[in-house]
Amino acid sequence: MICAGIDLGGTGIKAALVDERGRILRKKTIPTGARRHWKEIMRDMVELITDLVQAEGLQIQDIKGVGVGVPGTVNPERGELIYACNLPQCRNMPLREEMKNALHLPLFLDNDANVAALGESVFGAGGGQTRCSVMITLGTGVGGGVIINGRIFAGAYHGGTELGHLVIRAGGEPCGCGRRGCWETYSSATGLIRRARRAAEETPGSLLWRLCGGDLSRLDGKMVGDAADAGDPAAVSVMEEYVQDLAIGLGNIYNIFQPEVLILGGGVSARGEKLLEPLRQLLQPEIYGGDMSKVDIRIATLGNDAGVIGAACLVMQEQ
Ligand SMILES: [Zn+2]
Repeated sequence: MICAGIDLGGTGIKAALVDERGRILRKKTIPTGARRHWKEIMRDMVELITDLVQAEGLQIQDIKGVGVGVPGTVNPERGELIYACNLPQCRNMPLREEMKNALHLPLFLDNDANVAALGESVFGAGGGQTRCSVMITLGTGVGGGVIINGRIFAGAYHGGTELGHLVIRAGGEPCGCGRRGCWETYSSATGLIRRARRAAEETPGSLLWRLCGGDLSRLDGKMVGDAADAGDPAAVSVMEEYVQDLAIGLGNIYNIFQPEVLILGGGVSARGEKLLEPLRQLLQPEIYGGDMSKVDIRIATLGNDAGVIGAACLVMQEQ
């Protein structure tokens, strides 16, 4: 079985042909041109699939369907993208109807964080344990996706599981969503960098200054990790606070869902065991009952391909 997966992002449209074992046969990325009207973006998506199918020596009929991950809210029943702040001219974009008209292929879509969680759970770090798995992405924000019985769970009206917007500190840092103290403001890469900038300002001798060449606006998450690994006291303390808040948020998630697997993705997760080891220790007192024996935290393995592989999974689960 071959399915097409598309990761429609604000910067690029990435498409891939994926087989039933989650292997990418062929993939291609083109710029989105995010300010364009949805009809133009749709035309490019159709062309991408046609190109991939031809290059692979296949016919359109060999493709079971098209899955799409989008950076916004969706109506999966109608196959429509409702709203994406990065794609201003794609409001109420009727992807399913357009794909049916253009290539006579069924189309399924979902939010990109949910789709990545599906891909990682089925073919990535989750290793197919999809009775209940949760993926948390630590990037610009904190994204969340929940898989229950092999399918994306997003609440009654498909707008739920905004896990990054659980409040972990009442009256805390202001969040883009309008609330204060959201987990995202502390545990995103953005939150890590904000803390490190403050710490560097208070500590003129910190290694953080040297790593960013004396310009704190250039500080990134990797520099903070590198400074902490080198034993810089300011960076060590920033990283300890960061992991503590990460543990509080993950404890909340675990206590709600009790997932078989908890997958961490995004830039900060690249720290791997250096992140997981202190995290497991700080997580133990946050877990209801304190029993860590069933807590299985893993680092995502599909990287930037999670989107297209997860999108293809949306088609596979309908077969
Ligand atoms: Zn928020």
